[in-house]
Amino acid sequence: MKEIYDVVVVGGGPAGATAANDLARRGHHVLLLDRAGRIKPCGGAIPPRAIQDFDIPDHLLVAKARSARMIAPSGAEVDIPIEGGFVGLVDREVFDEWLRDRAAAAGATRTDGKFTSVGVDSEGVRTVSFVAGEDGGKRTVRTRSVIGADGARSAVAQQTVPGADDTKYVFAYHEIVRAPEVKPQGYDGTRCDVFYQGHLSPDFYGWVFPHGDTLSIGTGSADKGFSLRHATTSLRTAVGLQDAQTVRREGAPLPMKPLKCWDNGRDVVLAGDAAGVVAPSSGEGIYYAMEGGRLAADAVHAYLATGDVSSLATARKRFMRAHGRVFWVLGIMQHFWYSSDKRRERFVAMCRDKDVQKLTFDAYMNKRLVRSKPFAHIKIFFKDMAHLLGLARV
Ligand SMILES: Cc1cc2nc3c(=O)[nH]c(=O)nc-3n(C[C@H](O)[C@H](O)[C@H](O)COP(=O)(O)OP(=O)(O)OC[C@H]3O[C@@H](n4cnc5c(N)ncnc54)[C@H](O)[C@@H]3O)c2cc1C
Repeated sequence: MKEIYDVVVVGGGPAGATAANDLARRGHHVLLLDRAGRIKPCGGAIPPRAIQDFDIPDHLLVAKARSARMIAPSGAEVDIPIEGGFVGLVDREVFDEWLRDRAAAAGATRTDGKFTSVGVDSEGVRTVSFVAGEDGGKRTVRTRSVIGADGARSAVAQQTVPGADDTKYVFAYHEIVRAPEVKPQGYDGTRCDVFYQGHLSPDFYGWVFPHGDTLSIGTGSADKGFSLRHATTSLRTAVGLQDAQTVRREGAPLPMKPLKCWDNGRDVVLAGDAAGVVAPSSGEGIYYAMEGGRLAADAVHAYLATGDVSSLATARKRFMRAHGRVFWVLGIMQHFWYSSDKRRERFVAMCRDKDVQKLTFDAYMNKRLVRSKPFAHIKIFFKDMAHLLGLARV
């Protein structure tokens, strides 16, 4: 066991595959370890910024959503056109494999295996152990650094980073159904529908996202006593897709609070869901995972070049500088607007406003707040307050 990798990336989802690709392209000796055989449960919606920053080719987009429909508890609908652009929808089975392949083409070594532990060998070198192969045999490799991108409830985080459990989870569940040949009334394969209705989720939202030949229909909640399956059945019935063929039923936790620390101060740094970076309110995690993977790769690159362990902390610092405020605002929004049907009704009503639409969509699509219209912010602030205080008419 003389070989030493520069970095072992644990997890080959959007975060890990992006980190492995970036580091391999910079000439590092990279091992990308991924537990094969499971498709990540996911609605697969990605903003243009993700497509642009991470060079996602058009053929990976199974659908392009040109509008979003928000549905209030009363059934009132607000349609938001996505002007001059679209939200891309990816199939995670194909998307994640493509990302891993891209990392391999850049020079990373791919290995299927389940991470079990980190350790240190007799020479003081960091080791990563995993089980692999048909015999389930244990393998151990040596490395200078580790990126923990093994998703929510990361085993790498739990073994190496203090406070790894200190996040907030929403559990998300969805059913992948085949798009029926005879489309139900109101069906639009280029529209994402978002349901803000307490019976579908007491604290999050339900969704119907088009995926070309299939659809993702699901909901989420932090309330462990709430039946996500039951709510999804109701949602399917509401949109006339109760009899559509079900391809898969699956769910996973969404960690919606960035961990306070993403590295172990020595040679490990976390990225993506492992670091707790799914956006509150929206549940968006793919872009943030890729961005986190890129920042972790930069941090490891700097650490490998200088040996300065403080470089590892730059991943979190840079991420929070760029997105911390948005996460904070989205957290407050979710806490307030998703807490009762009365508030959900007001929230959807507020989204009728063109300025609100423009600002929220621009923030989602391009990951920046529009600064060109300062008065729009002020106007929205007062509208928001009016809705909060119940002064505005629904
Ligand atoms: C139902 C649902 C719907 C969602 N919809 C959307 C959406 O529409 N848009 C959006 O942006 N986000 C969505 N998300 C969130 C998004 O899926 C995640 O935030 C994103 O996948 C995080 O990427 P990641 O690379 O950090 O982790 P993951 O995608 O979870 O990847 C982790 C990888 O690590 C591997 N792994 C795990 N444990 C081990 C181990 N012990 N050894 C080796 N490998 C391991 C896994 O196999 C996996 O490949 C949704 C999530 C859920 C649950």
